[in-house]
Amino acid sequence: MKIGIVSLGCCKNLVDSQKAMSFLQASGHTFVDNPKSAEVILINTCGFINDAKQESIDTILQMADYKNNKLRYLIVMGCLVQRYREELEKELPEVDLFITIDEYNDLENILNNFLNSKTVKEKKVVLATNNHSAYLKIADGCSNKCAYCAIPLIRKEYRSIKIEELIKQAKKLEEIGVKELNIIAQDTTRYGIDLYGKYRLADLLYELNKMDFTWIRILYMYPDEINDELLEAMAICDKVVPYFDIPIQHANDRILKLMNRRGNKKNLVEIVNKIREKFENPILRTTIIVGFPTETAEEFQELLEFIKEIRWNKLGAFTYSLEEDTASYDMEPKVEEKVANKRLEKLMLIQEKIAQSNNETYVGKTLDVLVEGRDALDKKLYQGRSYANAPDGIDGHVRFTSSKDIEIGEFVSVKIESVNVHDLFGKEVI
Ligand code: SF4
Repeated sequence: MKIGIVSLGCCKNLVDSQKAMSFLQASGHTFVDNPKSAEVILINTCGFINDAKQESIDTILQMADYKNNKLRYLIVMGCLVQRYREELEKELPEVDLFITIDEYNDLENILNNFLNSKTVKEKKVVLATNNHSAYLKIADGCSNKCAYCAIPLIRKEYRSIKIEELIKQAKKLEEIGVKELNIIAQDTTRYGIDLYGKYRLADLLYELNKMDFTWIRILYMYPDEINDELLEAMAICDKVVPYFDIPIQHANDRILKLMNRRGNKKNLVEIVNKIREKFENPILRTTIIVGFPTETAEEFQELLEFIKEIRWNKLGAFTYSLEEDTASYDMEPKVEEKVANKRLEKLMLIQEKIAQSNNETYVGKTLDVLVEGRDALDKKLYQGRSYANAPDGIDGHVRFTSSKDIEIGEFVSVKIESVNVHDLFGKEVI
């Protein structure tokens, strides 16, 4: 059958979509980009915050419209189903099959049974990204229980995947020519604790560094788990890029405590200083929540001062999203939506200035760039990423010109000539 895949939400979801695609491909199905030509559409939903839930519902309804066309089945899986299966079954009769995250262990059978397919022979790796960059999911679930977050309710306790299994997965990715390996989990730095009784991300890095990847990148690090052993491994492993994605959420001690986050402002400053002392040009990325219940104007101001002091290279910020069954649901007083939006705007204006001046430091420098696209009209124009840009679309790109024909997935050297808040612009150095 011809199958269309829509993967919403974070890259952890993308990995689950990839898994479903591998099973489907092994059963003889093929994939199409255009939903109009699909006989089956599989939507992997996100249920993290209200905007994501709305996007998931809108997408389901939008895809259901194709049922007047060629589409025979609509399958919906992922976080939204895990959280609201009963309600969705009642409200969305257009959907033929719902699959919760709890059922992922049996995903292959569920899909095959439903699609009445042949027996699976050999599983090949299918990338929902592309062949040069891939995600390696090292754990499922989360045990941190941040007060605003529904993920532990949806994805359950943290479960590390055995090192041997991860090496096997990484080898398959190496074989198909992946050059950039991105390590993900809800909390990558916790890796190993549940399975081995100790943190083992550093051990995993030493193993992966022996393989034929050019870049290894770690995403979603929990600040208080970034220990000396891990920093040492990152410094020793030449393929591991000095990229630190550390979601901190806030900087005021009272709010951090209320959020049920471990550590305080002083600890955060110490971690950042340690990283900056040990690594040359480290990239620091974070995420922030503004307007958490009870956040005062002074506490927000303290957050702004902290942002100015640290000068994060990349920063994503969101207003607090009220999620039922989370610890913060009943916390009062709530910050008015209007006030939260104003705070967000203020914070992003400050960050834009910081990002612009951080980017300006690249002018005149030459960067290694992984090429990911070529302009359809102007063939001399390419787009790629340096080690400073993760592949999840948040960090911006390097756009450059070249007179050569460059293959997607190649590494080239680019001299940076100008910048804006998001992107760097330059020319290939030949
Ligand atoms: S670390 Fe906190 S915010 Fe991240 S998934 Fe776990 S509970 Fe949610």
